[in-house]
Amino acid sequence: MFRKILVANRGEIAMRIIRACRELGIATAAIYAESDATGIYVKKANEAYLVGPGPVKGYLDAQQIVRLAKRIHADAIHPGYGFLAENAQFATLCEEAGITFIGPSPHSLELLGDKVKARELAKQVGVPVVPGTDGPASSVEEGITFAQRIGYPVMVKASAGGGGRGLRVVRSDDELKEAMEAGAREALAAFGNGELFLEKYVERPHHIEFQLLADKNGYVIHLGERDCSIQRRHQKLIEIAPSLILTPRLRAEMGEAAISLARAAQFYNAGTIEFLLDPDGRYYFIEMNPRIQVEHTVTEQITAVDIVQSQIWIAAGRPLVFGQHEVNLQGYAIQCRINAEDPQNGFRPSSGKVTAYLSPGGVGVRIDGLVYKDYTVPPYYDALLAKLTVHGRTWDEAVRRTHRSLEEFVLRGVKTTIPFLTKIMEEPDFRAGRFDTSYLEGHSDLYTYEEMVEPEDLVVALSAAIAAYEGL
Ligand code: ADP
Ligand code: ADP
Ligand code: MG
Repeated sequence: MFRKILVANRGEIAMRIIRACRELGIATAAIYAESDATGIYVKKANEAYLVGPGPVKGYLDAQQIVRLAKRIHADAIHPGYGFLAENAQFATLCEEAGITFIGPSPHSLELLGDKVKARELAKQVGVPVVPGTDGPASSVEEGITFAQRIGYPVMVKASAGGGGRGLRVVRSDDELKEAMEAGAREALAAFGNGELFLEKYVERPHHIEFQLLADKNGYVIHLGERDCSIQRRHQKLIEIAPSLILTPRLRAEMGEAAISLARAAQFYNAGTIEFLLDPDGRYYFIEMNPRIQVEHTVTEQITAVDIVQSQIWIAAGRPLVFGQHEVNLQGYAIQCRINAEDPQNGFRPSSGKVTAYLSPGGVGVRIDGLVYKDYTVPPYYDALLAKLTVHGRTWDEAVRRTHRSLEEFVLRGVKTTIPFLTKIMEEPDFRAGRFDTSYLEGHSDLYTYEEMVEPEDLVVALSAAIAAYEGL
Protein backbone atom coordinates (compact mmCIF):
# COMPACT_ATOMS: atom_id res chain seq x y z
CA MET A 1 0.00 0.00 0.00
CA PHE A 2 1.05 3.60 -0.52
CA ARG A 3 2.92 5.35 2.26
CA LYS A 4 2.27 8.95 1.22
CA ILE A 5 -0.33 10.47 -1.11
CA LEU A 6 -0.11 13.96 -2.52
CA VAL A 7 -3.56 15.52 -2.71
CA ALA A 8 -3.63 17.67 -5.85
CA ASN A 9 -6.75 19.62 -4.97
CA ARG A 10 -8.27 21.97 -2.41
CA GLY A 11 -11.38 22.52 -0.30
CA GLU A 12 -13.85 19.87 0.71
CA ILE A 13 -12.58 17.17 -1.65
CA ALA A 14 -9.01 17.56 -0.38
CA MET A 15 -10.38 17.10 3.14
CA ARG A 16 -12.40 14.06 2.01
CA ILE A 17 -9.26 12.42 0.57
CA ILE A 18 -7.23 13.20 3.70
CA ARG A 19 -9.91 11.51 5.84
CA ALA A 20 -9.79 8.38 3.68
CA CYS A 21 -5.98 8.29 3.89
CA ARG A 22 -5.98 8.69 7.67
CA GLU A 23 -8.21 5.66 8.09
CA LEU A 24 -5.88 3.67 5.85
CA GLY A 25 -2.77 4.84 7.72
CA ILE A 26 -1.40 6.70 4.71
CA ALA A 27 0.40 10.04 5.17
CA THR A 28 -0.89 13.01 3.15
CA ALA A 29 0.69 16.05 1.54
CA ALA A 30 -1.55 18.97 0.65
CA ILE A 31 -0.86 21.73 -1.84
CA TYR A 32 -2.29 25.20 -1.41
CA ALA A 33 -2.32 28.60 -2.99
CA GLU A 34 -1.76 31.69 -0.84
CA SER A 35 -5.53 32.32 -0.86
CA ASP A 36 -6.11 28.86 0.67
CA ALA A 37 -3.49 29.16 3.41
CA THR A 38 -6.23 29.19 6.06
CA GLY A 39 -8.03 26.14 4.60
CA ILE A 40 -8.87 23.34 7.03
CA TYR A 41 -7.43 20.73 4.69
CA VAL A 42 -4.03 22.48 4.84
CA LYS A 43 -3.98 22.05 8.60
CA LYS A 44 -5.24 18.47 8.57
CA ALA A 45 -2.71 17.11 6.06
CA ASN A 46 0.57 15.77 7.45
CA GLU A 47 2.51 18.13 5.18
CA ALA A 48 1.46 21.14 3.13
CA TYR A 49 3.23 22.95 0.30
CA LEU A 50 2.55 26.37 -1.10
CA VAL A 51 2.14 26.32 -4.89
CA GLY A 52 1.84 29.33 -7.10
CA PRO A 53 1.62 31.64 -8.78
CA GLY A 54 -1.72 33.19 -7.95
CA PRO A 55 -4.84 31.49 -6.64
CA VAL A 56 -5.42 28.95 -9.43
CA LYS A 57 -2.32 28.25 -11.55
CA GLY A 58 -0.54 26.19 -8.89
CA TYR A 59 -3.41 23.67 -8.81
CA LEU A 60 -3.18 23.29 -12.57
CA ASP A 61 0.59 23.11 -12.95
CA ALA A 62 1.09 19.42 -13.72
CA GLN A 63 4.89 19.62 -13.97
CA GLN A 64 5.29 21.44 -10.68
CA ILE A 65 3.00 19.02 -8.85
CA VAL A 66 4.75 15.90 -10.15
CA ARG A 67 8.16 17.40 -9.32
CA LEU A 68 6.95 18.14 -5.81
CA ALA A 69 5.58 14.61 -5.40
CA LYS A 70 8.96 13.17 -6.36
CA ARG A 71 10.84 15.49 -4.07
CA ILE A 72 8.74 14.62 -1.00
CA HIS A 73 8.67 10.88 -1.87
CA ALA A 74 4.91 10.58 -2.37
CA ASP A 75 4.03 7.28 -4.07
CA ALA A 76 0.68 8.39 -5.44
CA ILE A 77 -1.34 11.48 -6.36
CA HIS A 78 -5.08 11.85 -5.86
CA PRO A 79 -6.44 14.54 -8.20
CA GLY A 80 -9.95 14.91 -6.68
CA TYR A 81 -12.41 16.48 -9.15
CA GLY A 82 -11.98 19.48 -11.43
CA PHE A 83 -8.44 20.88 -11.91
CA LEU A 84 -6.22 18.04 -13.24
CA ALA A 85 -8.57 15.12 -12.50
CA GLU A 86 -9.38 14.38 -16.14
CA ASN A 87 -6.11 15.50 -17.65
CA ALA A 88 -4.50 12.62 -19.59
CA GLN A 89 -1.17 14.46 -19.85
CA PHE A 90 -1.03 14.80 -16.09
CA ALA A 91 -1.75 11.08 -15.64
CA THR A 92 1.04 10.33 -18.15
CA LEU A 93 3.49 12.61 -16.33
CA CYS A 94 2.74 10.80 -13.08
CA GLU A 95 3.26 7.43 -14.73
CA GLU A 96 6.59 8.53 -16.23
CA ALA A 97 7.77 9.76 -12.85
CA GLY A 98 6.89 6.41 -11.25
CA ILE A 99 4.05 7.90 -9.22
CA THR A 100 0.62 6.25 -9.24
CA PHE A 101 -2.19 8.44 -10.55
CA ILE A 102 -5.30 7.58 -8.52
CA GLY A 103 -7.65 7.37 -11.45
CA PRO A 104 -7.95 5.62 -14.79
CA SER A 105 -5.26 5.21 -17.44
CA PRO A 106 -4.29 8.12 -19.69
CA HIS A 107 -5.86 6.19 -22.57
CA SER A 108 -9.27 6.04 -20.84
CA LEU A 109 -9.05 9.70 -19.87
CA GLU A 110 -8.32 10.71 -23.43
CA LEU A 111 -11.22 8.70 -24.76
CA LEU A 112 -13.76 9.73 -22.11
CA GLY A 113 -12.74 13.38 -21.92
CA ASP A 114 -14.11 13.76 -25.44
CA LYS A 115 -17.89 13.52 -25.45
CA VAL A 116 -18.00 12.79 -29.18
CA LYS A 117 -15.64 9.83 -28.81
CA ALA A 118 -17.52 8.58 -25.74
CA ARG A 119 -20.79 8.70 -27.74
CA GLU A 120 -19.17 6.70 -30.53
CA LEU A 121 -18.03 4.08 -28.06
CA ALA A 122 -21.53 3.84 -26.55
CA LYS A 123 -23.01 3.29 -30.01
CA GLN A 124 -20.46 0.56 -30.72
CA VAL A 125 -21.42 -1.39 -27.60
CA GLY A 126 -25.14 -0.90 -28.19
CA VAL A 127 -25.82 1.61 -25.41
CA PRO A 128 -28.45 4.14 -26.54
CA VAL A 129 -27.26 7.73 -26.99
CA VAL A 130 -29.33 10.90 -27.48
CA PRO A 131 -29.95 11.32 -31.23
CA GLY A 132 -27.19 13.67 -32.36
CA THR A 133 -24.69 14.55 -35.03
CA ASP A 134 -22.40 11.74 -36.17
CA GLY A 135 -19.18 13.14 -34.80
CA PRO A 136 -18.50 16.85 -34.44
CA ALA A 137 -20.59 19.47 -36.26
CA SER A 138 -17.90 21.25 -38.23
CA SER A 139 -20.05 24.02 -39.73
CA VAL A 140 -23.24 25.95 -39.05
CA GLU A 141 -24.73 24.47 -42.24
CA GLU A 142 -24.12 20.97 -40.97
CA GLY A 143 -25.74 21.93 -37.68
CA ILE A 144 -28.81 23.37 -39.39
CA THR A 145 -29.21 20.28 -41.59
CA PHE A 146 -29.17 18.07 -38.49
CA ALA A 147 -31.57 20.29 -36.53
CA GLN A 148 -34.07 20.43 -39.39
CA ARG A 149 -33.98 16.67 -39.75
CA ILE A 150 -34.35 15.90 -36.03
CA GLY A 151 -36.53 18.91 -35.13
CA TYR A 152 -35.98 21.72 -32.63
CA PRO A 153 -35.15 22.19 -29.81
CA VAL A 154 -31.59 20.92 -29.99
CA MET A 155 -28.64 21.27 -27.67
CA VAL A 156 -25.25 22.59 -28.75
CA LYS A 157 -22.46 20.98 -26.73
CA ALA A 158 -18.69 21.28 -26.53
CA SER A 159 -16.85 17.97 -27.07
CA ALA A 160 -14.49 18.87 -24.23
CA GLY A 161 -17.14 20.53 -22.03
CA GLY A 162 -17.86 19.88 -18.37
CA GLY A 163 -19.19 21.38 -15.18
CA GLY A 164 -22.37 22.52 -16.94
CA ARG A 165 -20.40 24.86 -19.18
CA GLY A 166 -20.55 24.96 -22.96
CA LEU A 167 -24.22 23.85 -23.18
CA ARG A 168 -26.85 25.77 -25.12
CA VAL A 169 -30.48 24.97 -25.91
CA VAL A 170 -31.68 26.42 -29.23
CA ARG A 171 -35.09 26.56 -30.88
CA SER A 172 -34.52 28.00 -34.36
CA ASP A 173 -31.98 28.22 -37.22
CA ASP A 174 -31.04 31.76 -36.19
CA GLU A 175 -30.48 30.78 -32.57
CA LEU A 176 -28.47 27.77 -33.69
CA LYS A 177 -26.15 29.90 -35.83
CA GLU A 178 -25.51 32.27 -32.95
CA ALA A 179 -25.06 29.46 -30.43
CA MET A 180 -22.57 27.62 -32.60
CA GLU A 181 -20.47 30.70 -33.23
CA ALA A 182 -20.41 31.80 -29.61
CA GLY A 183 -20.12 28.20 -28.37
CA ALA A 184 -17.01 27.46 -30.43
CA ARG A 185 -15.32 30.65 -29.22
CA GLU A 186 -16.18 29.92 -25.59
CA ALA A 187 -15.19 26.26 -25.74
CA LEU A 188 -11.84 27.19 -27.23
CA ALA A 189 -11.22 29.70 -24.44
CA ALA A 190 -12.49 27.48 -21.60
CA PHE A 191 -11.35 24.01 -22.69
CA GLY A 192 -8.66 24.73 -25.31
CA ASN A 193 -10.79 22.93 -27.88
CA GLY A 194 -13.56 24.61 -29.89
CA GLU A 195 -15.13 21.41 -31.25
CA LEU A 196 -18.93 21.22 -30.97
CA PHE A 197 -21.64 18.62 -31.56
CA LEU A 198 -25.42 18.67 -31.46
CA GLU A 199 -27.97 16.56 -29.63
CA LYS A 200 -31.73 16.44 -29.67
CA TYR A 201 -32.94 18.32 -26.59
CA VAL A 202 -34.73 15.76 -24.44
CA GLU A 203 -37.73 17.42 -22.76
CA ARG A 204 -38.30 16.91 -19.04
CA PRO A 205 -35.82 14.09 -18.43
CA HIS A 206 -34.39 12.80 -15.20
CA HIS A 207 -30.61 12.90 -14.88
CA ILE A 208 -29.74 9.38 -13.72
CA GLU A 209 -26.11 8.37 -13.23
CA PHE A 210 -24.47 5.11 -12.19
CA GLN A 211 -21.51 4.94 -9.84
CA LEU A 212 -18.94 2.41 -11.02
CA LEU A 213 -15.95 0.77 -9.38
CA ALA A 214 -13.57 -1.10 -11.65
CA ASP A 215 -10.34 -2.79 -10.63
CA LYS A 216 -7.22 -3.24 -12.73
CA ASN A 217 -8.16 -6.85 -13.50
CA GLY A 218 -11.14 -5.67 -15.53
CA TYR A 219 -13.73 -6.47 -12.86
CA VAL A 220 -16.48 -3.83 -12.89
CA ILE A 221 -19.45 -3.34 -10.56
CA HIS A 222 -21.95 -0.55 -10.03
CA LEU A 223 -23.11 0.91 -6.72
CA GLY A 224 -26.55 1.83 -7.97
CA GLU A 225 -27.70 5.15 -9.32
CA ARG A 226 -28.16 8.76 -8.29
CA ASP A 227 -30.91 11.09 -9.44
CA CYS A 228 -29.34 14.51 -10.03
CA SER A 229 -32.32 16.17 -11.72
CA ILE A 230 -32.51 19.18 -9.40
CA GLN A 231 -30.24 21.49 -11.38
CA ARG A 232 -29.82 25.14 -12.14
CA ARG A 233 -28.12 26.09 -15.39
CA HIS A 234 -27.42 22.38 -16.06
CA GLN A 235 -25.47 22.21 -12.79
CA LYS A 236 -26.50 19.91 -9.99
CA LEU A 237 -27.85 21.34 -6.75
CA ILE A 238 -29.44 18.33 -5.02
CA GLU A 239 -28.54 14.68 -5.56
CA ILE A 240 -30.55 11.69 -4.44
CA ALA A 241 -29.85 7.98 -4.15
CA PRO A 242 -31.50 5.77 -5.12
CA SER A 243 -33.83 7.17 -7.78
CA LEU A 244 -37.51 7.26 -6.84
CA ILE A 245 -38.64 6.19 -10.29
CA LEU A 246 -36.29 3.42 -11.42
CA THR A 247 -37.77 -0.07 -11.35
CA PRO A 248 -35.44 -2.92 -10.33
CA ARG A 249 -35.55 -4.13 -13.93
CA LEU A 250 -34.52 -0.74 -15.34
CA ARG A 251 -31.83 -0.40 -12.65
CA ALA A 252 -30.35 -3.74 -13.69
CA GLU A 253 -30.52 -2.87 -17.38
CA MET A 254 -29.00 0.61 -17.08
CA GLY A 255 -26.38 -0.73 -14.66
CA GLU A 256 -25.40 -3.38 -17.20
CA ALA A 257 -25.20 -0.74 -19.94
CA ALA A 258 -22.94 1.39 -17.74
CA ILE A 259 -20.68 -1.58 -17.00
CA SER A 260 -20.38 -2.57 -20.66
CA LEU A 261 -19.35 0.97 -21.55
CA ALA A 262 -16.70 1.05 -18.83
CA ARG A 263 -15.35 -2.28 -20.06
CA ALA A 264 -15.18 -1.01 -23.63
CA ALA A 265 -13.18 2.02 -22.43
CA GLN A 266 -10.84 -0.33 -20.50
CA PHE A 267 -11.75 1.77 -17.54
CA TYR A 268 -10.49 1.23 -14.01
CA ASN A 269 -10.88 3.14 -10.71
CA ALA A 270 -14.09 5.04 -9.80
CA GLY A 271 -16.24 6.72 -12.41
CA THR A 272 -19.77 7.67 -13.28
CA ILE A 273 -21.88 7.02 -16.36
CA GLU A 274 -24.51 9.71 -16.87
CA PHE A 275 -27.84 9.08 -18.59
CA LEU A 276 -30.97 11.01 -19.35
CA LEU A 277 -34.20 9.10 -18.69
CA ASP A 278 -37.16 10.50 -20.62
CA PRO A 279 -40.80 10.54 -19.44
CA ASP A 280 -41.49 7.38 -21.50
CA GLY A 281 -38.82 5.42 -19.66
CA ARG A 282 -36.23 5.49 -22.46
CA TYR A 283 -32.67 6.13 -21.38
CA TYR A 284 -29.78 7.72 -23.26
CA PHE A 285 -26.10 7.87 -22.39
CA ILE A 286 -24.76 11.45 -22.24
CA GLU A 287 -21.25 11.25 -20.80
CA MET A 288 -18.85 9.51 -18.50
CA ASN A 289 -16.98 11.26 -15.67
CA PRO A 290 -13.81 9.24 -15.04
CA ARG A 291 -13.17 10.59 -11.52
CA ILE A 292 -14.70 11.01 -8.09
CA GLN A 293 -17.80 13.21 -8.21
CA VAL A 294 -19.08 15.80 -5.78
CA GLU A 295 -22.19 13.71 -5.13
CA HIS A 296 -20.44 10.40 -4.35
CA THR A 297 -21.54 10.89 -0.71
CA VAL A 298 -25.16 9.81 -1.31
CA THR A 299 -23.98 6.50 -2.75
CA GLU A 300 -21.67 6.00 0.22
CA GLN A 301 -24.57 6.54 2.62
CA ILE A 302 -26.86 3.96 0.99
CA THR A 303 -24.18 1.33 0.26
CA ALA A 304 -21.77 1.81 3.21
CA VAL A 305 -18.90 1.65 0.70
CA ASP A 306 -16.13 4.23 1.07
CA ILE A 307 -15.62 5.20 -2.56
CA VAL A 308 -12.46 7.25 -2.00
CA GLN A 309 -10.81 4.40 -0.13
CA SER A 310 -11.89 2.07 -2.94
CA GLN A 311 -10.14 4.40 -5.40
CA ILE A 312 -6.94 4.09 -3.39
CA TRP A 313 -7.18 0.28 -3.10
CA ILE A 314 -7.78 -0.03 -6.82
CA ALA A 315 -4.92 2.30 -7.72
CA ALA A 316 -2.64 0.17 -5.53
CA GLY A 317 -3.56 -2.81 -7.71
CA ARG A 318 -5.86 -4.59 -5.25
CA PRO A 319 -8.83 -6.48 -6.68
CA LEU A 320 -12.35 -5.50 -5.61
CA VAL A 321 -13.29 -7.58 -2.61
CA PHE A 322 -17.06 -7.68 -3.13
CA GLY A 323 -19.29 -8.51 -6.05
CA GLN A 324 -22.38 -6.96 -7.61
CA HIS A 325 -24.77 -9.15 -5.62
CA GLU A 326 -23.22 -7.93 -2.36
CA VAL A 327 -24.14 -4.32 -3.10
CA ASN A 328 -27.27 -3.49 -1.10
CA LEU A 329 -29.04 -0.17 -1.35
CA GLN A 330 -30.33 0.82 2.08
CA GLY A 331 -32.83 3.65 2.48
CA TYR A 332 -32.55 7.06 0.82
CA ALA A 333 -29.84 9.70 0.86
CA ILE A 334 -30.09 13.35 -0.19
CA GLN A 335 -27.15 15.67 -0.75
CA CYS A 336 -27.62 19.45 -0.72
CA ARG A 337 -24.89 21.64 -2.12
CA ILE A 338 -24.39 24.51 0.29
CA ASN A 339 -22.96 27.07 -2.11
CA ALA A 340 -21.81 30.62 -1.47
CA GLU A 341 -24.26 32.08 -3.94
CA ASP A 342 -27.49 34.02 -4.02
CA PRO A 343 -30.42 32.12 -5.60
CA GLN A 344 -32.51 35.32 -5.58
CA ASN A 345 -29.95 37.00 -7.84
CA GLY A 346 -29.42 34.37 -10.49
CA PHE A 347 -27.23 32.29 -8.17
CA ARG A 348 -24.59 35.00 -8.22
CA PRO A 349 -21.45 33.91 -6.32
CA SER A 350 -20.89 35.52 -2.94
CA SER A 351 -17.60 35.82 -1.10
CA GLY A 352 -16.43 37.33 2.18
CA LYS A 353 -15.99 36.47 5.81
CA VAL A 354 -18.10 33.87 7.58
CA THR A 355 -19.40 35.58 10.73
CA ALA A 356 -21.19 32.61 12.28
CA TYR A 357 -21.05 28.90 11.62
CA LEU A 358 -22.84 26.00 13.25
CA SER A 359 -23.34 22.81 11.28
CA PRO A 360 -26.25 20.46 11.89
CA GLY A 361 -25.83 17.01 13.41
CA GLY A 362 -27.77 14.08 14.75
CA VAL A 363 -28.67 10.70 13.36
CA GLY A 364 -28.16 10.25 9.62
CA VAL A 365 -26.51 13.64 9.07
CA ARG A 366 -23.13 14.00 7.35
CA ILE A 367 -21.21 17.19 6.63
CA ASP A 368 -18.32 17.50 4.19
CA GLY A 369 -17.37 21.12 4.70
CA LEU A 370 -14.55 23.57 4.58
CA VAL A 371 -15.99 26.47 6.56
CA TYR A 372 -15.51 27.72 10.10
CA LYS A 373 -16.26 31.01 11.86
CA ASP A 374 -14.01 33.82 10.56
CA TYR A 375 -13.06 31.80 7.45
CA THR A 376 -12.93 34.05 4.40
CA VAL A 377 -14.59 32.55 1.32
CA PRO A 378 -12.19 33.30 -1.54
CA PRO A 379 -13.73 34.49 -4.81
CA TYR A 380 -11.48 32.41 -7.08
CA TYR A 381 -12.99 28.95 -6.89
CA ASP A 382 -16.33 27.25 -7.37
CA ALA A 383 -18.92 28.23 -4.83
CA LEU A 384 -19.24 24.94 -2.92
CA LEU A 385 -18.88 25.58 0.84
CA ALA A 386 -20.22 22.39 2.31
CA LYS A 387 -22.14 19.29 1.37
CA LEU A 388 -24.99 18.26 3.60
CA THR A 389 -25.76 14.57 3.08
CA VAL A 390 -28.68 13.08 4.95
CA HIS A 391 -29.72 9.46 5.17
CA GLY A 392 -33.14 8.10 6.11
CA ARG A 393 -34.85 4.72 5.97
CA THR A 394 -37.55 6.07 3.68
CA TRP A 395 -37.81 8.96 1.24
CA ASP A 396 -40.16 10.76 3.56
CA GLU A 397 -37.80 10.42 6.51
CA ALA A 398 -34.84 11.58 4.41
CA VAL A 399 -36.74 14.70 3.29
CA ARG A 400 -37.91 15.59 6.80
CA ARG A 401 -34.42 15.04 8.19
CA THR A 402 -32.85 17.17 5.45
CA HIS A 403 -35.35 19.93 6.17
CA ARG A 404 -34.58 19.80 9.88
CA SER A 405 -30.84 19.85 9.18
CA LEU A 406 -31.10 22.85 6.86
CA GLU A 407 -33.10 24.69 9.51
CA GLU A 408 -30.35 23.95 12.03
CA PHE A 409 -27.61 25.11 9.69
CA VAL A 410 -26.15 28.51 10.65
CA LEU A 411 -23.78 30.04 8.10
CA ARG A 412 -23.72 33.82 8.05
CA GLY A 413 -21.63 36.54 6.43
CA VAL A 414 -22.10 35.31 2.87
CA LYS A 415 -25.24 34.51 0.88
CA THR A 416 -25.86 30.77 0.70
CA THR A 417 -28.24 28.31 -0.90
CA ILE A 418 -29.49 27.19 2.55
CA PRO A 419 -32.83 29.09 2.60
CA PHE A 420 -33.55 28.09 -1.01
CA LEU A 421 -32.83 24.42 -0.31
CA THR A 422 -35.05 24.66 2.77
CA LYS A 423 -37.92 25.87 0.56
CA ILE A 424 -37.40 22.92 -1.78
CA MET A 425 -37.72 20.48 1.14
CA GLU A 426 -41.11 22.08 1.93
CA GLU A 427 -42.37 22.12 -1.65
CA PRO A 428 -45.15 19.53 -2.35
CA ASP A 429 -43.93 18.36 -5.79
CA PHE A 430 -40.44 17.70 -4.49
CA ARG A 431 -41.76 15.92 -1.42
CA ALA A 432 -43.95 13.74 -3.63
CA GLY A 433 -41.00 12.90 -5.87
CA ARG A 434 -42.49 14.81 -8.83
CA PHE A 435 -39.45 16.46 -10.40
CA ASP A 436 -37.24 16.32 -13.46
CA THR A 437 -34.46 18.57 -14.79
CA SER A 438 -37.00 21.36 -15.46
CA TYR A 439 -38.02 21.47 -11.78
CA LEU A 440 -36.44 24.80 -10.79
CA GLU A 441 -37.73 26.62 -13.89
CA GLY A 442 -41.26 25.48 -13.05
CA HIS A 443 -41.20 26.62 -9.42
CA SER A 444 -40.68 30.37 -9.25
CA ASP A 445 -42.29 30.33 -5.78
CA LEU A 446 -39.06 28.85 -4.39
CA TYR A 447 -37.28 32.16 -4.89
CA THR A 448 -39.49 34.14 -2.55
CA TYR A 449 -38.05 33.68 0.91
CA GLU A 450 -36.78 35.92 3.64
CA GLU A 451 -33.27 35.28 4.94
CA MET A 452 -33.67 33.42 8.20
CA VAL A 453 -33.27 35.68 11.18
CA GLU A 454 -31.65 34.07 14.17
CA PRO A 455 -32.82 35.01 17.68
CA GLU A 456 -29.55 36.80 18.46
CA ASP A 457 -29.93 38.86 15.27
CA LEU A 458 -33.36 39.83 16.50
CA VAL A 459 -31.92 40.95 19.84
CA VAL A 460 -29.30 43.08 18.07
CA ALA A 461 -31.94 44.54 15.74
CA LEU A 462 -34.29 45.28 18.63
CA SER A 463 -31.66 46.96 20.78
CA ALA A 464 -30.60 49.05 17.77
CA ALA A 465 -34.24 50.07 17.25
CA ILE A 466 -34.70 50.92 20.92
CA ALA A 467 -31.44 52.90 20.97
CA ALA A 468 -32.51 54.84 17.88
CA TYR A 469 -35.96 55.50 19.38
CA GLU A 470 -34.52 56.76 22.63
CA GLY A 471 -32.05 58.91 20.73
CA LEU A 472 -29.07 57.20 22.37
P1 ADP B 1 -20.69 16.81 -12.59
O1 ADP B 1 -21.49 18.05 -12.77
O2 ADP B 1 -20.20 16.22 -13.86
O3 ADP B 1 -21.26 15.84 -11.63
P2 ADP B 1 -19.17 17.66 -10.47
O4 ADP B 1 -20.26 18.47 -9.96
O5 ADP B 1 -18.69 16.45 -9.74
O6 ADP B 1 -19.41 17.23 -11.94
O7 ADP B 1 -17.96 18.60 -10.86
C1 ADP B 1 -16.89 18.76 -10.05
C2 ADP B 1 -16.20 20.05 -10.33
O8 ADP B 1 -15.41 19.92 -11.50
C3 ADP B 1 -17.10 21.22 -10.56
O9 ADP B 1 -16.53 22.32 -9.91
C4 ADP B 1 -17.10 21.41 -12.05
O10 ADP B 1 -17.31 22.75 -12.37
C5 ADP B 1 -15.68 20.97 -12.40
N1 ADP B 1 -15.54 20.40 -13.73
C6 ADP B 1 -16.01 19.23 -14.16
N2 ADP B 1 -15.65 19.01 -15.44
C7 ADP B 1 -14.93 20.07 -15.82
C8 ADP B 1 -14.27 20.43 -17.03
N3 ADP B 1 -14.26 19.65 -18.11
N4 ADP B 1 -13.63 21.63 -17.07
C9 ADP B 1 -13.62 22.40 -16.00
N5 ADP B 1 -14.20 22.11 -14.84
C10 ADP B 1 -14.86 20.97 -14.74
P1 ADP C 1 -21.53 18.46 -18.28
O1 ADP C 1 -20.34 17.80 -18.88
O2 ADP C 1 -21.42 19.92 -18.24
O3 ADP C 1 -21.92 17.81 -17.01
P2 ADP C 1 -23.70 16.97 -19.53
O4 ADP C 1 -23.67 16.53 -20.94
O5 ADP C 1 -23.46 15.96 -18.50
O6 ADP C 1 -22.70 18.18 -19.34
O7 ADP C 1 -25.09 17.67 -19.27
C1 ADP C 1 -25.38 18.40 -18.12
C2 ADP C 1 -26.88 18.55 -17.96
O8 ADP C 1 -27.45 19.21 -19.08
C3 ADP C 1 -27.64 17.24 -17.86
O9 ADP C 1 -27.67 16.73 -16.55
C4 ADP C 1 -29.01 17.64 -18.35
O10 ADP C 1 -29.76 18.29 -17.34
C5 ADP C 1 -28.69 18.65 -19.42
N1 ADP C 1 -28.60 18.00 -20.74
C6 ADP C 1 -27.48 17.54 -21.35
N2 ADP C 1 -27.76 17.02 -22.56
C7 ADP C 1 -29.08 17.16 -22.74
C8 ADP C 1 -29.98 16.82 -23.80
N3 ADP C 1 -29.59 16.26 -24.93
N4 ADP C 1 -31.30 17.10 -23.61
C9 ADP C 1 -31.74 17.68 -22.47
N5 ADP C 1 -30.95 18.04 -21.46
C10 ADP C 1 -29.63 17.77 -21.57
MG1 MG D 1 -22.34 15.81 -16.75
